[in-house]
Amino acid sequence: MICPFCGAAMEKGCIKGQHEMAWLPDDKRDALFTDAHLQEGAVLLASSSIFKGSVVDAWCCRVCEKLVVEY
Ligand SMILES: [Zn+2]
Repeated sequence: MICPFCGAAMEKGCIKGQHEMAWLPDDKRDALFTDAHLQEGAVLLASSSIFKGSVVDAWCCRVCEKLVVEY
C-alpha cells in the first residue's frame, strides 16, 4: 500500500493487544471503558480471544509515522 499522506511504500503488519480494540468518535473519548457494541458510533477493529488476544491488519508508514487500519 502507498501511504496516502506522503506517498512512501507502507509495510504490512498488525496491531495486537490483549483486549477488544475499537475506534470511538471524539465525543466518546472520556467515556467509561465498555464493549464497543455498547458505545454508539464505535467501530469494532478486533474482538478478543482469551488465547489469541486481539489482532487487526494494519499498514505502517515509517516516514510520516502513520498507520492505516482496515476493518
Ligand atoms: Zn507516509
